[in-house]
Amino acid sequence: MSSTPLWYDGKIVDLLEAGISPLANALHYGTGVFEGIRAYETPTGPAIFRLAEHLDRMALGANHLGMSLDLDALTAGHHDILAASGLQNAYLRPLAFYESGGLGLDVASLQKRTLVAAIPWSTHLGEASRTHGISLRTSSWRRIPATSVPALKLCGNYVNSILAKREATLAGFQEALFVDDHGFVCEGSAENVFLVKNGRIVAVAHPDMLPGITRRTICELTGAESRPVTLAELRDADEIFLTGTSVEVTGVCQLDSRPLPIGPITRQIAALYQAVVHGQTETERGWLCAA
Ligand code: PMP
Repeated sequence: MSSTPLWYDGKIVDLLEAGISPLANALHYGTGVFEGIRAYETPTGPAIFRLAEHLDRMALGANHLGMSLDLDALTAGHHDILAASGLQNAYLRPLAFYESGGLGLDVASLQKRTLVAAIPWSTHLGEASRTHGISLRTSSWRRIPATSVPALKLCGNYVNSILAKREATLAGFQEALFVDDHGFVCEGSAENVFLVKNGRIVAVAHPDMLPGITRRTICELTGAESRPVTLAELRDADEIFLTGTSVEVTGVCQLDSRPLPIGPITRQIAALYQAVVHGQTETERGWLCAA
């Protein structure tokens, strides 16, 4: 089997030799924080999209767990692992987690480990989702309120997304849509939500959603209005699309029982995003960090 490099606490090691304990605290309680980051091929070589913003968000999550991250080392780690992988387009996955020191819930004295993996990219909702869009089903699960666990990429939070995603896929849909008890839209299992109505673009805002970096990018590029949206308003939209590091900009072709067209504005925004992340337009505003 060919070896896969992993950046692990400052060194490049083989993934299979990382040697993580089965009694790692994070394995039992989700005491870790991660990010999903993309590197893209550009005319001047591979570059990482909005790395600093991703690492700032990771540091916020780490702070809640009492972990301090060395952001300079982690930044260098992303560039080192990308170079070691030889990939032009990659998904980069940093993770900081509590490993040894015990299975107690007081994490103050536990040892932290930090890793970054570079994984060859394949679209997580499938290649067909780019042209045909994806089906979205309103979930019966509620998003964990941000008053209970901060809306950040803390590992344990993702059980909530996994339950919603599983419910949606078992019902024959591709993605789940979280709404709250008052009828407001929150987000997808790993995506933020936008709607288009009469040519106006609206970014769904909700206190329990992850503040997505792709969402911010699309708001900055299009001037979309960010505000709360009810499920009734979403159902009445002309176009709906999802944003996220992995799905990029993906149109929704069905919301529950209602089929939707992948409209012209969604297609334009998806194309603009591709041009920006691949460094093919002047609007990249220093977002691409050359490897
Ligand atoms: N919401 C959730 C729950 C997510 O996991 C993600 C993916 N990170 C997003 C939204 C989109 O965020 P971003 O654009 O920063 O990837």
